[in-house]
Parts: sequence; structure tokens; C-alpha cells
Amino acid sequence: MMTVTYIGLGSNLGDSRQILAEAVQKLATLGAVKTSRLYQSPPMGPQDQPNYLNAAVQLVTDLEPLALLDELQRFEQESGRVRLRRWGERTLDLDLLMYGEEQIQNERLTVPHIGVMERDFVLMPLLDLEANLQIKGQLLKDLPILQHPTLSVLDDGNWANI
Ligand code: ATP
Ligand code: MG
Ligand code: MG
Repeated sequence: MMTVTYIGLGSNLGDSRQILAEAVQKLATLGAVKTSRLYQSPPMGPQDQPNYLNAAVQLVTDLEPLALLDELQRFEQESGRVRLRRWGERTLDLDLLMYGEEQIQNERLTVPHIGVMERDFVLMPLLDLEANLQIKGQLLKDLPILQHPTLSVLDDGNWANI
């Protein structure tokens, strides 16, 4: 069965633009993808790290949630991701933001992702993909955090070459 999923992408080490574009192309091997605009945002957590590039992808896939997470983590590893510190710098972060309407809670996975409602760098790209997206009846576009966004659009074109 095909499910509409949303993936959050972030990078602040290496050639982030290239890394995110490659990530989109890898995601496209898992199903049909749509890509948000490309954003730049200040770091969350430790402030002594570079700004992030962020985006989101809508992926329609037949993979089960944990199988999809395996793929996301494989792509992170292939980008050379090393865990240094919590919310620290990384070449690639791929978070499973939403998996259809499902609510998932297990050792490896919390879906919807814990940060969706509080992070403008997740919400703005998501809304590019689906302006009327809701989580548990909450229209994301109505969330107050979106009134003073801290991120800026870097590219509204076909930055991932998909
Ligand atoms: P945050 O999750 O707050 O954005 P992070 O992305 O830096 O922080 P990671 O180091 O990428 O955190 O992931 C830590 C763990 O989070 C992973 O091992 C994974 O099992 C777990 N995890 C739980 N829910 C999710 C999800 N929805 N998407 C991706 N990973 C998740
Ligand atoms: Mg994350
Ligand atoms: Mg992550």
C-alpha cells in the first residue's frame, strides 16, 4: 500500500547544497518525490556551529515505517554523518516527519516527529509541499511560530535537479 510521507532534510557540514540535492535523488529511488524550496536557518541547540540548509520532501512509498527509517539512516551514513553532540553539526539529517496519518511510538521512531510543531525550519518547507497540512486536526499554517520565522529562502527553483 502506498503512503504519503514527509521527510525533513538538514545539513550544516560539507557542501550542504550538494548533499541535500543528492539526498533528494536517493529518496527518489524509494518512490515519487516532491521537493520544497531550499532554506537557510540558524542552528538549533549549540550556537557555535554553522547555519543550516533545510528542505522537506514529500515521498509516496510502499515502505513500512521502520524500513523507511533504515533507508534514511543509510543515506545519512553514506553522507559521512558522524555523531558528535546532541543537535550538533552534521552533513545530513533525515527525519521522518509524517507517515500518512499514523501515530507511531516505539524505540526507534516517534511519528509525527517530535519537532514538527515547534520548528519553523520544518514547518515552512512542509507548507511548500501541502499548504493545508494538518496534524491531529491542527492546521500547521495557523501555528503562531510561523509569524516570526527565523529562516530565509535560498532557492525557490529546481535546486535538487529532480
Ligand atoms: P531531532 O530528532 O530532535 O531532530 P536529531 O535529528 O539530531 O534530533 P538524530 O541523531 O538524527 O537526532 O536521531 C536520533 C534518533 O532519533 C535515531 O536513532 C532515531 O531512531 C530516532 N528517531 C525517533 N523518531 C524519529 C523520526 N521520526 N525520524 C528520524 N529519527 C527518529
Ligand atoms: Mg533532526
Ligand atoms: Mg535526525
